[in-house]
Amino acid sequence: MEYRRIKGTRDILPEEGLIRKRIFSIAENLFLTFGFLPISTPVFEQTELFVRGIGEASDIVQKEMYTFLDRSNRSLTLRPEGTAPVVRAYIENNLSSFRFPSKLFYIMPMYRYERPQKGRLREFWQIGVEVFGAPGPDVDSEVIFLMVEYFKKLGLKNFTTEINTIGCRKCRPLFLDKLVEFLNEHSEDLCSDCRKRIDLNPLRVFDCKNERCITLLKDAPKVSESVCEECLLHFEGVMNHLRMLNVDFEVNPFLVRGLDYYEKTTFEVKSPLLGAQSAIGGGGRYDPLVKECGGEDTPGLGFAIGVERLLMQLEEEGIVPQIEIGTDVYIVSYRGLETKAFEVANQLRKIGIKTEYDYLKRSMKAQFKQADKLGAKVSVIVAPEEHERNLVKLRNMITGEENLVSYDEVVGLIKTMVEKVDERCQ
Ligand code: AMP
Repeated sequence: MEYRRIKGTRDILPEEGLIRKRIFSIAENLFLTFGFLPISTPVFEQTELFVRGIGEASDIVQKEMYTFLDRSNRSLTLRPEGTAPVVRAYIENNLSSFRFPSKLFYIMPMYRYERPQKGRLREFWQIGVEVFGAPGPDVDSEVIFLMVEYFKKLGLKNFTTEINTIGCRKCRPLFLDKLVEFLNEHSEDLCSDCRKRIDLNPLRVFDCKNERCITLLKDAPKVSESVCEECLLHFEGVMNHLRMLNVDFEVNPFLVRGLDYYEKTTFEVKSPLLGAQSAIGGGGRYDPLVKECGGEDTPGLGFAIGVERLLMQLEEEGIVPQIEIGTDVYIVSYRGLETKAFEVANQLRKIGIKTEYDYLKRSMKAQFKQADKLGAKVSVIVAPEEHERNLVKLRNMITGEENLVSYDEVVGLIKTMVEKVDERCQ
């Protein structure tokens, strides 16, 4: 019988695994510097959380959730995004009493039943942050700055940052009236999806990829022209703070984003190199959400970056994150002396030196070949004659220099040798 991956999922193979580990650790260090602390939530939650938290009319809830009944007939859903679960965890664990305002980050897989294509998967990872309890535009700009700084730290250059304001609970209904009027006037020219959106979720027409709709919507009313004084001031504040931080940005008056809970600021980082799925990350402010999910009225905002899109972008820009796939030390042993190799290898690993030896009792030649293949900086040769005298041979694989040393000093000497080789390579 043959088993295959489920459509829209990927295996993360070792080399990519190491690259991901590297980009995750760069994110973690940067986020910690900005005062964000890690959080993880379960892979599945009550379905209702997402319906409430993301919005009944959103595409995710309408057609993309992996929802199932468990053995007790509860409706559960695989996490399609991180914000609603983090909000739930923030309320349930009373995190506001731990630190307020609260700044959290996560690196977690998400599940959406979308049509798989390049850059669009059914299981994908997101790196995200959420801030609770900070209402001012300075924080919006700080979060945008953080995302841009992360991309810059990874070496990315070819991306643009778009921002917009989509108004708030008070002023958006006015805009929606204008938009619906416009859409109704042109409904015959819209695609069938957009026609459905007029009643269901009119803002989403701006995410339509249909060429005719895109052209038509260029003349649609712009939300930024209808927002209230408070939202306008907030948006100006965001832009001013971004300028202070020297963040390059463009205002895209049609940037609305997919989830229903956003208000005021929305933003997205896009790449011209990624084709149709051009968004590497995006986010916005969602002030109503914490209350909507049962908590106290607490403003919130955040972003999520798609890890697989980020990897595609790194590749497109020719950036290869530094990874270590080799070993520091390889222990070569003559037949019958494998136990000594086993012993020394594990002593070295215990003090943090990457060490390999042969599990397969292969020939000396094959073992040296393997040492080369793994890029060993030092090899240890356990040979009968020297072993009799309680000695082993160390070979510096870079200079070819060899030394006979006693078993008692071998661990200390290797540590020094590896450190020296590392210094020379830097
Ligand atoms: P969203 O949660 O929809 O705002 O998405 C945030 C980011 O996650 C996007 O900018 C993408 O980089 C990434 N993303 C969203 N959906 C997918 C998907 N189906 N496959 C891969 N990446 C995705």
